[in-house]
Amino acid sequence: MAKQTAARAHDFTRIDVHTHSWPFEDATKIKGSAAAYVKKIRAAGIDKVVLMAPADCCLKAVKKYGDFVIPVAMYYMREFGRRDFRGEMERALDGGCKAIKFIAPLAPYSDERYWPLYDMIDHRGAVAMFHTGYLGFDEKQPEIPPIEMTHMRAAHIDAIGRRFPRLKIEMSHFSNPWWEEAWKVAWSRPNVYADLSGGTAINRAISMWAEMFAPHGVLMESALKKVCFASDVNYFHDGDHDFGAHIDFHERLLDRINAPAELRELVWSGNARKLFGLK
Ligand SMILES: [Zn+2]
Repeated sequence: MAKQTAARAHDFTRIDVHTHSWPFEDATKIKGSAAAYVKKIRAAGIDKVVLMAPADCCLKAVKKYGDFVIPVAMYYMREFGRRDFRGEMERALDGGCKAIKFIAPLAPYSDERYWPLYDMIDHRGAVAMFHTGYLGFDEKQPEIPPIEMTHMRAAHIDAIGRRFPRLKIEMSHFSNPWWEEAWKVAWSRPNVYADLSGGTAINRAISMWAEMFAPHGVLMESALKKVCFASDVNYFHDGDHDFGAHIDFHERLLDRINAPAELRELVWSGNARKLFGLK
């Protein structure tokens, strides 16, 4: 008798919840029409992308590409205190951004000085997205003071999730390399979602991830159901887009742990729809 075939990834719509543009500050430089670009990417399996960039770049991209883009205004927190972040973030959300992305803080994300920002996002029903774990940097431009990756651990997201239990939170990169910590936080905090985007998770053995989401081969539904598909790939350019490896990684993981169709749907797009209020 044929083995019951699990639902295949291509049966699902995909939303990539972590992407950037290339060039970073201008998503509109592709040759040809926006419609042709969106058609090409949708044919390759990505229905929508969460674009993380400066607010004006995101909002210009929405004008050009319509609902293919979910705009997320991105802020380098090392500039906290030197810019009117609250005002800028409020204007970004007023302009149509769906979330605020935090990255590179000089204090832990859970520091009380940042709470008014989280409170504002919470009250607006928007999403707080956090770069978690390791952060790459340009060696030609040393950071002074250097960014400490421990400030971006999942443990700090747990503290924010406790202080703001209704705030919708998404943790990018699964707190690389504190995977266990991210797993525990996303599993335990109802308002925290997470993704495996970036260059590291997909390079680890599928068996490691399978053990995390299905210990001893038994699917742990409550842990998997908070995962969102994401790549951290650059879109909006004319060359090839390397999200294929990320689709493949997620497919292999979902297959390995025998995830049922309803959980696959959450990973590929359902969680993103919930977070960003999409139909
Ligand atoms: Zn990124």
